Formats: sequence, C-alpha cells, structure tokens
Amino acid sequence: MDQLFEIARKTFDTPEFRGITFIESEAKSIINRVPGGALPFDWTINPYRGCSHACVYCFARPTHTYLDMNAGRDFENKIVVKVNAPEVLRRELAARRWKGEHIAMGTGTDPYQRAEGRYRLMRGIIEALIDHRNPFSILTKGTLILRDLDLLVRAAEVAPVSAAFSIGTLDERVWRETEPGTPHPKARMDAVRTLTDAGIPTGILMAPILPGISDRPDQLREVVGAAIDAGATHVSPIMLHLRPGVREEFLPWLEQEHPDLVERYLQMYRQPYGPKAMRESLGERISSMVSAAGGIRRGVEPARRFFRRDRSPGVKAQASEQLRLL
Ligand code: SF4
Repeated sequence: MDQLFEIARKTFDTPEFRGITFIESEAKSIINRVPGGALPFDWTINPYRGCSHACVYCFARPTHTYLDMNAGRDFENKIVVKVNAPEVLRRELAARRWKGEHIAMGTGTDPYQRAEGRYRLMRGIIEALIDHRNPFSILTKGTLILRDLDLLVRAAEVAPVSAAFSIGTLDERVWRETEPGTPHPKARMDAVRTLTDAGIPTGILMAPILPGISDRPDQLREVVGAAIDAGATHVSPIMLHLRPGVREEFLPWLEQEHPDLVERYLQMYRQPYGPKAMRESLGERISSMVSAAGGIRRGVEPARRFFRRDRSPGVKAQASEQLRLL
C-alpha cells in the first residue's frame, strides 16, 4: 500500500462534484509494483483512490477500507487525489534503477473518473511518460481520456501505447442500475472508435458480465458487434467476481434490485470467482461471437489478452481480480 500524506480536504459546488469530498494528498511514490506476477505487466500508476463511477460490483471497493473509510458510499464520495503524481513520476522515471518497463494504468481505480476533469493529473503523467519514452497502457470507463488524445498520439510515436475500455453491457437499463456514475456505454464505444481511428490500439474488456442480468446472448452479441465495428483490437470477457468486501456491497444491492436472483448468486458464488464451467463457457461464447461477427477476419483478438502469462485457471482468476475490472 502506497504511503499518502493528506494536505487538504475540498468540496466543489458544481453539479458533477456535488456530494464528493476530495482528499488532496501527497504520495511518496507513484509507480507501484503489481502484486502476484500473474499479469503481463509488473508496474502500475493509480493517481486516485476511490471512484465516483460508483459501479455496484467494483472490485476496488475494499481498498478504501485500508484508508479507514468504508467500501460503500465513502468509496464513491471520498476520493483521494495524489496531487503530486506527475512530479513524483518524473523523479521515479529519471532514477537510475528504473528500467523503462511497461506501466499499466487503471488497474486500481479509474484514472479518468470525474476528479480528473478538475485535477488533470493524467496530462502531467502522460507528458512525463512521453519525455522518458516509457511504454504504457490505460484501462478506463472514462470518455475524458479523449481530452488527452493529442498526448496519446504523441506518446505512441515514441513508445508502445495502448488503451482498453471496460464495457460490460450496452443495455441502457443495466448500465443505469449498475454503473450510475459512468459515461454512457455507447459514448465509451464511440471513444474506442476515436482512439483506434487515431492509431491508438484499443480493446474492450467486457467486464464484469453479470449472470442473469447482462449475459443474455442478445446482450453479449450487441457488445461484441459494436466492439468490432469500433475497430477494437481485442474483446475480453470476465464474469463477475465476488470477493470478500465486494460481496457485502453487491448482495444487498442484488436483494433490492433483483431479489429473484439472490438464491442463484448464493449458490454460484460459494467461491469468489463463480463456477469454472460458467467462466469457460462465457469465454467460448464470446470467442464464437467474435468469429461470427467477422472479427477474426478483421483482426480482432477474441479474448484473454490480459491472460497471456497465465498458466492455470486459478492464476487467471487471480489475474483478473488484480485488474480490479474497471
Ligand atoms: S469498476 Fe472501475 S470505474 Fe467502476 S467504480 Fe470501480 S474503479 Fe471505478
């Protein structure tokens, strides 16, 4: 866990920030090692902790409890902002011990959540990465990433750069009830197209797929078809995980919104990752949908881009957990 030193608490009385407290903090370090060694990258940068995107299933929620806040409303409304992230990054990139390895952003909370519109930390971060020709990738649900398109294009000229959007569903009702603070998934899909048109390889993480809520064949086909039309470089499905800490937030929501599904979920999620057969079947269904939609012919990789270094199903599950599924 990174060391943080709080310097101020702020609120802003504008509609998009109403009800949110920003805890401005200084970070001692900003490039953090990804634990576990199961992912295709070892390093990450997370300029924010907590996330106003407020997804009901969010895997990162328990991280807020390390900061003496709760994984529910505090996670959504008390956002830690590492205000010195660009400066610390420049120092770390210049250090002799840094070897210029790939840095993955969006592994913790979303770097293009609403706070970024005000704090603009990502611009400073990307500029530092450009100056050091350091490869990186960004996983997000935030269409705000397009604000930095000019920088991403410049970065891609000097180092390998890629992006991925998390789009688990295009179903309006499911989006509204499960990801209330996020940009519309169609706007996210449009952003994928803009990025790929600009030459930034951009994929789609279909995550998480919610059994009985967003896993109907027509719902899945809609996302896959739109992803291929948008020029996505890969489509990777991940079924919902319910780890301790997330489970306590998700199940009460399910009880309220889908009481008919509670018993089924309790059966399925006796272990955090759900039944292996269901996970595998989901992967196969998405692969065949990508093929059927002509994605393979057009060069779209069906799935598992993030899992290339995995060696067993258990490690795969751990890897996707660490991605925090934006
Ligand atoms: S899943 Fe991602 S976008 Fe949603 S609240 Fe969590 S960190 Fe934010």
